[in-house]
Order: sequence, then C-alpha cells, then structure tokens
Amino acid sequence: MALLIQKFGGTSVGNVERIQAVAKRIATSKEYGNDLVIVVSAMGGTTDELTELAKTISKNPPQREMDMLLSTGEQVSIALLSIALHKLGISAVSMTGAQVGIVTESAHGRARILEVKTERLHNLLEDGKVVVVAGFQGTTLSSRGTAEITTLGRGGSDTTAVALAAALKADACEIYTDVPGVLTTDPRLVPEARLMTEVSCDEMLELASLGAAVLHPRAVEIARNYGVTLFVRSSWSENPGTKLTSKSIREIGLAGLELGRPVDGVELLENQAVIALSDLPDKPGIAAKLFEELSTGGVNVDLIIQSTHAGNSNDITFTVAEENLEKTKILCTKILARIGGNLCTEKGMSKLSINGAGIMGRPGIAASFFDKISREGINLRLIATSEVKVSCVIDKKLGNKAIRAVASTFDLSENQIQLNPINIPMNSPEVRGVALDTNQSQLSVLHVPDKPGTAAALCAAMAESGISLDAIVQSERQHKDGSRDISFILKTENRQHADQALVPLLAQWPGSHLEEGPGIARVSAVGAGMPTIPGTAGRMFRALANAEINIAMIATSEIRTSCVVSADNGVKAIRAIHKDFNLGEENLSKS
Ligand code: ADP
Ligand code: ASP
Ligand code: MG
Repeated sequence: MALLIQKFGGTSVGNVERIQAVAKRIATSKEYGNDLVIVVSAMGGTTDELTELAKTISKNPPQREMDMLLSTGEQVSIALLSIALHKLGISAVSMTGAQVGIVTESAHGRARILEVKTERLHNLLEDGKVVVVAGFQGTTLSSRGTAEITTLGRGGSDTTAVALAAALKADACEIYTDVPGVLTTDPRLVPEARLMTEVSCDEMLELASLGAAVLHPRAVEIARNYGVTLFVRSSWSENPGTKLTSKSIREIGLAGLELGRPVDGVELLENQAVIALSDLPDKPGIAAKLFEELSTGGVNVDLIIQSTHAGNSNDITFTVAEENLEKTKILCTKILARIGGNLCTEKGMSKLSINGAGIMGRPGIAASFFDKISREGINLRLIATSEVKVSCVIDKKLGNKAIRAVASTFDLSENQIQLNPINIPMNSPEVRGVALDTNQSQLSVLHVPDKPGTAAALCAAMAESGISLDAIVQSERQHKDGSRDISFILKTENRQHADQALVPLLAQWPGSHLEEGPGIARVSAVGAGMPTIPGTAGRMFRALANAEINIAMIATSEIRTSCVVSADNGVKAIRAIHKDFNLGEENLSKS
C-alpha cells in the first residue's frame, strides 16, 4: 500500500465523460489499497474563459478579484469528481486549497506555497477517504489577519500536487495529462516528438522554464529540492510515462516550503579566456561556421553570447579554457580573414557561478548575486543566466574575493563552495529535449555607462518589480562617449511593467534610452551532457543555418543553448533543431 498524489490536468477532466473516466481510474487505484490524494485543475479552457470574462469588464482587474474568480474553476471540478467517485461507491471528499491547509504568500496571482498544514489531510486519509484537492489555489492571511484566497500562477496545479507530496512525504506524485509524458518537444509543434522515459529535474527545470508547458517549473523545483518521486503520465493509458530523477536531495526542512533555499552552491572556474569577435556579418551561417571550425579544431567552448547591432553586424563573445587560447586565436584569425570582423582576446579570467533550482524564477537572486560582485568593485565581463545556474566572467585576480562575498550573501557553508570543479561525463545526451517560447520580448537599453554595477543595477530594478531577465547581453562595442548597450529578453507579460521599472535607472544614466526589439521567438536545446560533449552549439547553429534562419541573439548556460530568432521562424527553427539532433521517432527507428 502506498500514499500517492495524483494530479489530473484540465483536458483530463475536460467534460463529464472524462471526469467519469478519471473517477474509474482513481477507484481502481484505491481498490489496489493505495491511499490517495487527488489534485485537479479547472475543466479545460475554464481558466481562460473566466479571464476573458473579467477582461470584457476591465483591462486591468484587481489581482485579488481575479483570484476570487479563477479559483472557482477548480472548485467546480473537485466537486464534480467527488460526486463521480461517490457514484462508484468510493468515499471521497473535495477540499479547496484553504480547507486543506495550503498556506501561501500574499502575492495574488503568483503566490508561492509557504506551508501545507497536513493535519486535516492525515485525518481524512486515516478515515479511508479519497481527498480531492483544488489545484492552483491557497490561502494567505491579509495584513488585518483575515484569510484571503490566492492563486499560484497559470499551470500551478502541478505545483499544488508536488507540494502536497513533499509535505505528506508521499511515495510518489503522478501528473496525469493529455500527452504520454515528457516528450523531446511539444508534440503540437513537432508531431515526431518522442517520449523520454527519464529526465533529470535539472534538465526538466530548464525545459519547463524555456517553454515546455507540460510541467510548471515550480513543481519541478519542489520535486528536486525535497526528493519527491515524480512521474508524468497520460490519463488515457496505463503506460508508465516519464520518471523525473534528481541527484542532489538536500536536507532542508519543510518550513517556508517553496521559499526553500534556491542557491545550493557557488563555484569558481579559473584560467578562462574571453574571445570577443565584433563586426561579424549578420547573416545565417556565421555562428555555425565559427563554432563548427572551433570544434573540429579541438576547442571546447563554454559560454557563448551573441548580440546584433544596428547596421547589420553581430558581436559574438565566448569563453574557452586558457590552455586553448592560442589555438582558438589561430582558428578565429583564419575565419575572420574569410568573413571579416575584429578579434580581441583576454586571458586571466574566471567564471563564477551560483547553482540551484529555480534561480531565474526568483529575480531577486540573480540581482543580489550581480549586486554583491559589483559592490566589491568587480566588473562583470560576461553574464549567463538559467534556471539552474547563473554565471559571470570576472578578472581571475578578484576570484577569491568574489567567491567569499557570494558565499556569505547566500549563507553557504564550506562544502557548498567549489574551486575549479571538473566536469565528469555523465552518460547523458548533449540534447535531451528542445523547447520553443513565443512569449518573450526583446528590449535594449542603449548608451549605458561602462562601469561595474550597470548590469547589476538593471537586474535589481527589474527584480524589484518581480521581473526576471533572460539572455542579458552587454555589447562588445563602445559608443564614441565610451558607453555601451545592454540587451535582454523578458516575458512578454512583463513587458509593460518594465518601462515603469526602468524609469529611475534611465534617469541616473544621462543619454541612455530604451529600444524595443523586433518580434522574437526563443528556441532552446537542453541536455546534461552538453558541457562534456564538444560541438553541440555549432551543430545547433548549423541546423538553423541550413533552414536559412538568422540568429539574432545567442545565450548559453551550462546545460542549455538558446537562440533568439524572428517570431515567424520559431516553429521552423524548433523543427530543424529537433530533426538535426535525431530526437524524433522516425529518426530513432532508422538509426
Ligand atoms: P494539463 O492541462 O494536463 O496541465 P498542459 O496543457 O498544461 O496540460 O500540458 C500538457 C501540454 O504541454 C501538452 O498537450 C503539450 O502540447 C505541451 N507540451 C509542451 N512541451 C512539451 C513536452 N516537452 N512534452 C510534452 N508536452 C509538452
Ligand atoms: N487552471 C489553472 C490554469 O489553467 C491551473 C492549472 O491548470 O494548472 O492555469
Ligand atoms: Mg498544466
């Protein structure tokens, strides 16, 4: 007998027939002797319909009232599912988030779970009840001490389920949905997408935050941090689906559940060199040629960053181990002789990184990382961000000072500090899956001062408004007055708040101004084997070049490579990359 948390998404309970089918499935599992807590979403489409309804009255409805409205969707489905279970002779009881003891922060519309008061749940389970819990919602105490309904953010029922599993120390959490599990990409975009039988939580966290909507990133964070055994399966079949694996389970208490400690460790990789190529032609195939030739020449590239400039030229900056610098210079000089552009290199650099789960989902973390380093007077030469790792390249001489400062900021102990860690090949593919995100916007701040603290100030200003920045790129080129440009991408839903957040900063930087980027899509490849298998980035860029797609921006982190392309090329780009890495069914059976 096991204690299982089973979550059924919107399409799985989309109509009465589906609710009855789910009830049968639950009844069978109960008959096997399992203790069950069921989490359900609103019936498919309901949350969208309710949102639309509110928008017909007001473009900007109060978040508290939106939470009151949207939480009703789940209340309907829990009641209907309980009724269906009773009809099958199963003693079930439906519970709202508040009734079941899900306590959250007060941030309406995006509240994080602080605690699950499990007493009522335990009592009901002891009485042999199947408890049917409303996903996506919780309760918070207002400043006056009265209870308020909150919601966790779109897709948040997954997070409810995994949080319950962590709090109840369940044997497993099963997410039932309308696909067979986690696939190599969204099957709606790429029909050949293949089921993964296993995926690590780190890879899934990256994929989920880069557009793979099959799991809410925060659900993966909780699973990773608390060691929840998590499966994603189809509610239409008995197939086992996908198992999420996690290697680093931390002994952290359940207090402040979702607030946990997002930073697990800090590391410093010394003896790195930065290679900056500027004024490269802005056309398909340049990045592909460059990184293919470097890979053929035996150079393993670490971080890669590319930004486009007005006047149709690109800058590409990347890092290599210092021992490869001479070889890299020779290769780059040869390539530049053919395509044009300038080369500038710097050795004596180090890469300083913090790692953890859900770092970018909490914008304040990256902001305080960068802020701490800048306050020590250290310049950030390059920045790379992702859900599981945020890195910056700094002067090697200042590495020790920086690592100590960062360790104290995040309250890390000696065993969480790593100097020159070695990447051990992990027997994982270089690309496990790919994701497309069409809900990103690009912005640039032009003419920012070239001094330590600029990027940190930008991140901090956005973080104060709850906005995470992704792919933050500082230009290589300087304007005549010595200023530079910083480009970044952010979620489109945050775009309008960004203007407001940036007003005080722009006022501090005379001559600076915002520039709106073109419509973009971001395509990303994720794989735990990426750091140890050379040539992955070059292959991804080649796939795009062969499809005649121009890359506007490149940003990599340890286990992911992302490219920004024009909005209308998004689907074509994801298909090209998926095919090139042989991720699909057809390709696999041929090999
Ligand atoms: P639910 O209502 O069950 O929560 P969602 O719509 O939130 O379902 O998530 C399932 C959908 O996620 C699938 O129908 C699929 O289109 C989409 N999806 C995106 N990326 C992936 C992926 N890598 N693997 C599986 N499904 C994906
Ligand atoms: N009903 C909510 C939504 O549609 C939560 C969920 O389905 O996970 O976003
Ligand atoms: Mg979902």
